Amino acid sequence: MKAVRRPMFWFSLAMWLLSIVIAGLLIQLGGLIMSDVPTAGKRISQSDFVDNVKLEAIDARIDTLEATLLVNKNDIEDARVRLKSRSLDYNTQLINFRSWIATRTATEADDQNSEVIKRSHEIEALKLEERKAERDIERLEQKGVEPRRTLAALRQDRRQVIDAARPIYEKARKFEVLKVFMLRLALTLPLLLISAWMIAKKRSSHYWPIYRSFILFSLFAFFVELVPYLPSYGGYVRYIVGIAMALLFAHFSIKAMMRYQSNKKTEEQKPETEKRKLIEYETAVKKISDGVCPSCDRRFVTKAVRKSEKPPMADVDYCVHCGFCLFSKCTNCGTRENSFYNFCGTCGDPSKGSSNDAQA
Ligand SMILES: [Zn+2]
Ligand SMILES: [Zn+2]
Repeated sequence: MKAVRRPMFWFSLAMWLLSIVIAGLLIQLGGLIMSDVPTAGKRISQSDFVDNVKLEAIDARIDTLEATLLVNKNDIEDARVRLKSRSLDYNTQLINFRSWIATRTATEADDQNSEVIKRSHEIEALKLEERKAERDIERLEQKGVEPRRTLAALRQDRRQVIDAARPIYEKARKFEVLKVFMLRLALTLPLLLISAWMIAKKRSSHYWPIYRSFILFSLFAFFVELVPYLPSYGGYVRYIVGIAMALLFAHFSIKAMMRYQSNKKTEEQKPETEKRKLIEYETAVKKISDGVCPSCDRRFVTKAVRKSEKPPMADVDYCVHCGFCLFSKCTNCGTRENSFYNFCGTCGDPSKGSSNDAQA
């Protein structure tokens, strides 16, 4: 870690915020473009693939039959009303006749014989009317049977015509979805590649915060916006690209580590005065106060000791691993302090040269 000056810390924090803000704006813009591009063509549906000529013919026949059946239903309703009124007529007449017969038996009038016959004829006629109404209903119901069967068969046909379109539609839909996905992939993958190039080449650029915002944006666009759009292909793409990125990262990390180690080795061969020139002032000051040797990067105080509030460094003047000078005495007043300090903290004497002289 670099021991950065305080303003530098705030500056880098502000730059991070700026990176995130720019990335957010880019994501918004990208989302807008994304939402416009794939919806350019209209979304397909199953009805686009149905044989419409067949379907219309069937629908026309269904309409006719439904109209016929409606008429039939109304006719039956009317006939039922008629039957009800006929039955009522007959029953009323029958009750009247029975009570009349009862009265007649009581009086035993023979001359009323022809009247009996006339009245029973009337009742029979009413019974016939009732029967006729019943037969009307039966006839009408019979008339409805055939159209109802045909209608059921037609509805079956209609379903078949619609179902026949399903495989074609599903095939077309898969293709459509793949097309949109490829389009999105073609937009986002180059962004990711550009980001990889930026990470490789522009990391030490002064404009890195701007590059970083682009990288954040491309990562978001690829892994968050593209992938959930299509879980079936998205999963593959996400994992394959994720694995590729992890492998690349591992490759470059290992290379960087090897480079670091070989650099350290060559550094260790050099005399201390030269080593000092290679180490950055702020880094060295920070590392020594943290208990880490700025030359070999190893800890020169044990962890247990570091736990206490102030690491007791009184007895460690040289790195126990590489012999690098960590603390030295001021040539003017003799105070022991960080060997990298430019000035003595006690007397203000420019002590840097002295510590180097002491080591040389
Ligand atoms: Zn060391
Ligand atoms: Zn001093």
